[in-house]
Amino acid sequence: MSVRVRIAPSPTGNLHIGTARTAVFNWLFARSQGGQFLLRIEDTDLNRSKSEYTDNILNGLKWLGMDWDEGPFYQSQRLEMYREKIQLLLEKGLAYRAYETPEELNAMREAQQARKEAPRYNNQHRHLTPEQIEAFEAEGRQAVIRFKIDDQREVTWHDLVRGHVSWQGQDLGGDMVVSRAAGKGDVGQPLYNFVVVVDDADMAITHVIRGEDHVGNTPKQILLYEAMGIKVPEFAHTPLILNESGAKLSKRDGVTSISDFQNMGFTAEALANYMTLLGWSAPDAQELFTLPEAAKLFSFERVNKAGAKFDWDKLDWINSQYLHAKPAEELLPLLLPYWEQAGYGFDAETDSAWLLPLTAMIGPSLTRLKDCVELAHFFATPTLDFSEAAKDQLGKAGVAGAIQAVLSALKETQIGQPEDAKGLINQVTQSLGVKKGLMMRSLRAALMADMQGPDLVESWLILHQRGYDQQRLQAALSIAEG
Ligand code: GLU
Repeated sequence: MSVRVRIAPSPTGNLHIGTARTAVFNWLFARSQGGQFLLRIEDTDLNRSKSEYTDNILNGLKWLGMDWDEGPFYQSQRLEMYREKIQLLLEKGLAYRAYETPEELNAMREAQQARKEAPRYNNQHRHLTPEQIEAFEAEGRQAVIRFKIDDQREVTWHDLVRGHVSWQGQDLGGDMVVSRAAGKGDVGQPLYNFVVVVDDADMAITHVIRGEDHVGNTPKQILLYEAMGIKVPEFAHTPLILNESGAKLSKRDGVTSISDFQNMGFTAEALANYMTLLGWSAPDAQELFTLPEAAKLFSFERVNKAGAKFDWDKLDWINSQYLHAKPAEELLPLLLPYWEQAGYGFDAETDSAWLLPLTAMIGPSLTRLKDCVELAHFFATPTLDFSEAAKDQLGKAGVAGAIQAVLSALKETQIGQPEDAKGLINQVTQSLGVKKGLMMRSLRAALMADMQGPDLVESWLILHQRGYDQQRLQAALSIAEG
């Protein structure tokens, strides 16, 4: 039977790194098996689901390269089917209506806590008489629908990551709510644990691959599969993503959604690559691969049980490897939005003559895309404020003459290539009889207004293309001449 897996995000927030990592593992497994990867939007919670979150999730998955073969399916459009299945459970006597008010359920919980017992529903409405039901309904109470759980049952499965897992029926919290707000004669709003089973069965999912936080739902879902006479799929519960201090990565850690990572300047390839390593490792410890390459190596044997610590340094390193390998033509469109945001006014159409060399020059210094803002600030405005170090340099003996000589030479010499600029520097240095070091430091101070920065000759060529170099040399000259 061909492998079918799914990612089933709830649109109650932006695409979370944990969900995205689960998507990556599902995708890798589907591709490694020649199977299908489905996308299902679990939007039954109408109060918390928002279409902007759905958009964020779809865009994030697409951006990461998680192409899906079927879907997106929306649970909100499938309610009729869930309701029919709930009705069947009721008819078979596998589920029933329970009428406790929230206050009564609270009192039950408090009494259990006072007795130092784990909170659970005590199944007290399992065997209501028709008269009791009628009385509750006459009172206007709203029912929930509870699925019967046998306390004596042991539920076990072989988890593809965690191995043998076993749960006792008595630890599942009593008969479980599969639908709420069930008014007289209707079955109400079906809930997650129920609809996920109906959908996974309807979509012929063979392997349910999801985060470890769902491991406690699995025994309940297995009981539902059995009750509905459906084949139980395989399960794989992937390790949680932990922060630096070993706790579950959460909103408190700042960045958690894929769009946050995108805004911070990580590329899709690097982030997807890094996510493959959050809980899985390649047989030969290889760390850099595209998703299709990782799919060739992926297996659940190499997925860890232990939580996966989020390692910013590793993510930065992987991102820098991807950025350094990108040709300027590919990198430039990724940098332009950051420059635009910084107000630099660089224009991809008219400025490409110097934007491409600028991109090629700073590319090897990038760790995150947004680093391009700092690295390109030298080129954003015609003149810059001179740093103290640059002013010191410009105040040294002989500097004014050197700059003046460069300015004069520039009037007669075309500088289009690094050799031209180097030739001009050599010529002026020799004719003035100044030291090369002094000349280079003075040019850096004059052109970049600082003593540190990117390659001087390449920067000069870019400034020359922009028509900024003579202006800067002139401004430096005024300072040098004091
Ligand atoms: N909607 C659930 C979630 O986002 C899906 C869990 C599952 O994969 O079964 O966590």
